[in-house]
Amino acid sequence: MTKTGMRRLHLVHGPTPLVRRASLDALLGVKLWIKRDDATSGAEAGNKIRKLEYLLADALTRGSDTILTCGGIQSNHARATAIVCAQLGLKCVLFLRDATAPGDPSRIAKRDELPSGGNVLLDRLAGAEIHRVTRDEYAQRGAVMESEAQRIARAGGKPYVIPEGGSNGLGSLGYVEAMREVRGQLDLGLADSRASFDEIVHACGSGGTAAGVVLGAARFDVAKRVRAVAACDDAAYFSRVIDRIIGEARSYDAELAATAPLVVDESSRGPGYGVMSDEQRDLLARVARASGTILDPVYTGKAMHALAQAVARGDLAKGARVLFLHTGGLPGLLAQDDVF
Ligand SMILES: *Cc1c(COP(=O)(O)O)cnc(C)c1O
Repeated sequence: MTKTGMRRLHLVHGPTPLVRRASLDALLGVKLWIKRDDATSGAEAGNKIRKLEYLLADALTRGSDTILTCGGIQSNHARATAIVCAQLGLKCVLFLRDATAPGDPSRIAKRDELPSGGNVLLDRLAGAEIHRVTRDEYAQRGAVMESEAQRIARAGGKPYVIPEGGSNGLGSLGYVEAMREVRGQLDLGLADSRASFDEIVHACGSGGTAAGVVLGAARFDVAKRVRAVAACDDAAYFSRVIDRIIGEARSYDAELAATAPLVVDESSRGPGYGVMSDEQRDLLARVARASGTILDPVYTGKAMHALAQAVARGDLAKGARVLFLHTGGLPGLLAQDDVF
């Protein structure tokens, strides 16, 4: 049991490092620290396993034997879930959005219909059952997963559905805990002073990380402001989603009253989900060369671009103490070897 009172598995090899990356200060215009949540674990690493600590604990408590979840074809969340399910002896069923899907979400994809690399390779190795779904079916993902869950239950299984990105109130508690971890690192003097950061910057894809970060940053006095950088949808959409998840999280823990001020930054979405502009690609490469920080093209590369742009626009003060939350995504970069 944690202080929030919810059962939790221990999947994260924490605390993850909090590192100073002074070689990026000139490039970005701020004083930069990075929270290495790309290093939460091994092949399952990234931000998603912080949420899965709570979600899969709940599934096990309920006696579930089959986990259903969804995402884009190269979803980091789907990959993390597939790998952790294999660790726990749970069956994993994935619904992955794919432009070439046949239009029958109940159909299990054959190996030669799937991309050969990146997250999908790991999904397959971990033994996940993969269903490809069209964009329209994905828009109905809740209903699609519920209908498969009912089929599994009729056949005697015990399904448990995890929403896109693991982003609900329960999953978001993983990032409240992450902020407790950062507070401990500030208290140890790992970021010059015990004072809170001026801003935390992180990528936003389904809202659960942002919800947990704004709740945890307020509760543990970790940051004066949070910038959630939209990787896909617009700021109005994410503001609604994040508010809903915050409300759900509070139903688990009455102490989660305050939130840190949140900016949903939609200015670095680039040409499309998973697609970078030339300028964004250039920054990703420069960051890698200047500091050995490997960002991904779907999320963290865009978040870093938004950070640089915010300073250039004067939205974020030059020289501010900034914590960049590196949420992972390396397999997504490796799946774009043709682009880089
Ligand atoms: C999922 C993901 C995000 C976004 O987190 P959400 O909680 O879904 O908003 C950011 N970075 C990476 C690498 C991710 O896989």
